Amino acid sequence: MRLSQMLFVTLREDPAEAEIPSHKLLLRAGYIRRIASGVYAYLPLMWRVLKKVSNIVREEMDATGAQECLLPQLQPAELWQESGRWETYTKAEGIMFALTDRQEREMGLGPTHEEVITAIARDMIRSYRQLPVHLYQIQNKFRDEIRPRFGLMRGREFIMKDGYSFHADEASLQKTYADMDWAYSNMFRRCGLEFRAVQADSGAIGGAASQEFMILAEAGEDEVLYTEDGKYAANIEKATSLPPDAKPSAFVLYEKRETPNTKTLDKLCQFLNCSPTEVVKNIIYLVVYDNGRMVLVLVSIRGDLEVNEVKLYNELAKLAPTYGGNAIIAVDIPSEQVQQQLTLKPLPLGYIGPDLADNYITPAGQLQPGFLRFADRTVVELKNFVTGANETDYHIVGANWGEQFPLSDRIVDLRKSQAGDRAVHDPSQVLKSARGIEVGHIFQLGTKYSEALGATYTNEQGDNVPLIMGCYGVGVSRLAQAAVEQSYDKDGIIWPVAIAPYHAIICIPNISDIQQVEVGENLYTELNAVGIETLLDDREERAGVKFKDADLVGIPYRIVTGRSLKSGKVEVVERATKTSHEIAISEVAATLK
Ligand code: ATP
Ligand code: MG
Ligand code: MG
Ligand code: MG
Repeated sequence: MRLSQMLFVTLREDPAEAEIPSHKLLLRAGYIRRIASGVYAYLPLMWRVLKKVSNIVREEMDATGAQECLLPQLQPAELWQESGRWETYTKAEGIMFALTDRQEREMGLGPTHEEVITAIARDMIRSYRQLPVHLYQIQNKFRDEIRPRFGLMRGREFIMKDGYSFHADEASLQKTYADMDWAYSNMFRRCGLEFRAVQADSGAIGGAASQEFMILAEAGEDEVLYTEDGKYAANIEKATSLPPDAKPSAFVLYEKRETPNTKTLDKLCQFLNCSPTEVVKNIIYLVVYDNGRMVLVLVSIRGDLEVNEVKLYNELAKLAPTYGGNAIIAVDIPSEQVQQQLTLKPLPLGYIGPDLADNYITPAGQLQPGFLRFADRTVVELKNFVTGANETDYHIVGANWGEQFPLSDRIVDLRKSQAGDRAVHDPSQVLKSARGIEVGHIFQLGTKYSEALGATYTNEQGDNVPLIMGCYGVGVSRLAQAAVEQSYDKDGIIWPVAIAPYHAIICIPNISDIQQVEVGENLYTELNAVGIETLLDDREERAGVKFKDADLVGIPYRIVTGRSLKSGKVEVVERATKTSHEIAISEVAATLK
């Protein structure tokens, strides 16, 4: 493709609408344009990237024996009523775009396709002889996200690969799940991404085991807990959503610069009647995990926020149970006066105390390893508790809420884990925490949807039983942007070769120099002919402008038909390293191949 014939517009300045580097760069380099909140146009360069990502995804899926199809985006409410998700998805969660057709029938735009695929399976799968079977598609999904942001990272219309498998038994599901784990690892590796597979919460989709694939990056909206040796890694969402009967005390998460999650923050803002920044700046917020489940919230207010302390504790007591919390622990001791006014029922209030005899008292600034003591006199020993909640920098100060999530860097184990099957984590190992971008998610669904929709088959014994299901998603458009978030420099994007829109760009520094043009044109034809996807910058622009644009757009190799032509060579510059080589014109194709 010739730049002179492309819709090619780059911006020198960062657009105001973008907060994170990848979003800024994709806008500046002319890959995407915002049409509405969370709705983007993929311009020709972006579309090439997305097709490459999709092709890698498709090849890996096909290799496992999964079959591609295309399901309708427009879905009847009835199917969602059958699964019981219509009300939650359109009203409670409000994630689903719902509409009414001219016959007054309710419809929705697909946020996901469990209902549709299960209805198909109900109609078409009769016997165990047809199993297992796995169908997938790559298409636009619609989700009316509460907070669309970061460009393609959280869109309201975005591209997803979603696959659904059907099985006669658990072992068959396990096999496909393992195949998907393998296929997903291949996909992300081939896309040039550094990723981590983590245990995940199954969320509203439901089901048993599930695993996410995370790209570690500060802009990530998820938080991942992991051990250095890579043996344990989990999404914190999972850590907060274990069943209430989980066994006691596995570990305490103690973060130096914890920012409350969005939901907590919103509520805190509401009842404190102040801005998120004020909350983040002024409230020390520690979270205590019990066997992976959040049980305690430790709160302390810094002196400079005028809040009603009584109100804060009482409100937190109401809040905590929604996160599975069963106690409120104060880091600083509320005054006698405050304590008398507290109506924390049914939650006990506790304080961190250095020992049992100390009547809960911990002098501010001198927190000691010790015990968590509840008002009802139950005590939890904190063996390796590293304190310092009142030291400088242990507060959640300086967090730039909404722009960048600080990396938490301090997590300390407290007690032996008794978490049974989930306790892959060896409690003697320190857990670390990092921000992650969820690019893939695989689930074992079991019979949740097949039972709800009555999708059954006849097994070998002749019984009619529900199909066992799995589902597997990849955020294709999110992945493409995540690749940029992981690979850029001050001059622009650095695409991994496998998903770059083009492999090479030929810059003709001076378009009125006949020799430069001739070499450029010939190379352009030759490279494309041998499968090196090449752009030709034949615009009437200064060389400096062309080089800047080539760097910004992030094409892996820049070929310059400049001074070195005298010696029969061109300059080849590698985008990632900026290293430059003079290569004989006749050798270029062979070198880049
Ligand atoms: P998130 O936790 O980020 O909201 P999710 O868990 O709701 O994602 P899934 O239902 O697991 O998403 O969908 C499969 C994949 O689709 C995700 O792993 C993610 O990569 C992608 N995805 C989900 N929501 C969006 C979105 N709003 N914009 C872009 N990609 C998305
Ligand atoms: Mg979501
Ligand atoms: Mg998620
Ligand atoms: Mg998910």
